[in-house]
Amino acid sequence: MTQTPETRLRNAGYRVTKQRTAVYQYLLSTDAHPTAETIHLSVRHRLPNISLATIYKAVDSLVDVGLVNRIQRGASSARYDAAVKDHAHYRCIGCDGVWDTTQYATPGGTPQAFEVVRVNVEFVGYCADCRHLKLGLESLNTPII
Ligand SMILES: [Zn+2]
Ligand SMILES: [Zn+2]
Repeated sequence: MTQTPETRLRNAGYRVTKQRTAVYQYLLSTDAHPTAETIHLSVRHRLPNISLATIYKAVDSLVDVGLVNRIQRGASSARYDAAVKDHAHYRCIGCDGVWDTTQYATPGGTPQAFEVVRVNVEFVGYCADCRHLKLGLESLNTPII
């Protein structure tokens, strides 16, 4: 049974405001896993008076009702993702980029032993651009024979 985003918000006691709607629509439109600051910069084109605090409140409510996932790792800024179907992420150490991937193995075992309701898997490394940059730097140090 699928509820509309509006119904999910209302059932949880949230009002469906134009700010929440704008934030959710922006997150649906991007796969860049933006930070709250990036969401703010984009949503401000539509709602010029929206504050960063309002963006935080909006994403908090969307996360609370399960429309948006928050990806938080260590000290870096939280990233937001409206694609709540189970998927894993690649995160680049070099540029802090985050990309979706479905290439991961779900654990085996019986549903009685553990019922998986959400997947939170992150592969950390270097994207193609950063790898190229890194290899380029390494090659400078390679002795010429
Ligand atoms: Zn990178
Ligand atoms: Zn994602």
